[in-house]
Amino acid sequence: MKNFRIPFFVPWIFPRRIWKLKTNNTVYLTFDDGPQKGLTEWILDFLKERKIQATFFCVGENVKNQPELFAKIISEGHKIGNHTMKHERGTKTNRSNYLNSIKNASEYIESDLFRPPYGRLPLWKTKEIHKNYKIVMWSWLSFDFDHSVPTEKILNSAKSIRSGDILVFHDNLKSQGRVKILLPKVVDILTNRGFDFGCID
Ligand SMILES: [Zn+2]
Repeated sequence: MKNFRIPFFVPWIFPRRIWKLKTNNTVYLTFDDGPQKGLTEWILDFLKERKIQATFFCVGENVKNQPELFAKIISEGHKIGNHTMKHERGTKTNRSNYLNSIKNASEYIESDLFRPPYGRLPLWKTKEIHKNYKIVMWSWLSFDFDHSVPTEKILNSAKSIRSGDILVFHDNLKSQGRVKILLPKVVDILTNRGFDFGCID
């Protein structure tokens, strides 16, 4: 069973993290793990064509390797956020290494937004992060990275997206083929339902 929506009690456990936003009729597209050559350009062109602003949670190492692509994300008016230096898993990395990874990434990514890779971040590790960052989670996960989830199922779930929802797609190789199919269809569904798209402040 795949949960597209975050179970209702999870935000109660982590109330300081941002799971969704209070808005009238706006939803928030976010893209994790980029920049990724071949895909980021495609996403940027698509967003430009639809006049949509989004938020990109980038991996420091990828920014270091693809500075032009990263600059393009910013120059096209999107927001950026820190997603660690090497996509470390919060439950498997010790505290100081994890904090160092965020700090290291911040030398490439100037932002007060942070999203933990895999959404995994034990409570005892977050106090320090909260000093410098808003921790942005999500309320709807596209499962674009999981090839065992049929696209029809994902599109069906997109019909349940509500105002203020933060949606996750992936700007990485694993998701590449599916993002190109899913993103336009999800955006169509949401546009037809009258939603606007915003970036996270
Ligand atoms: Zn990630």
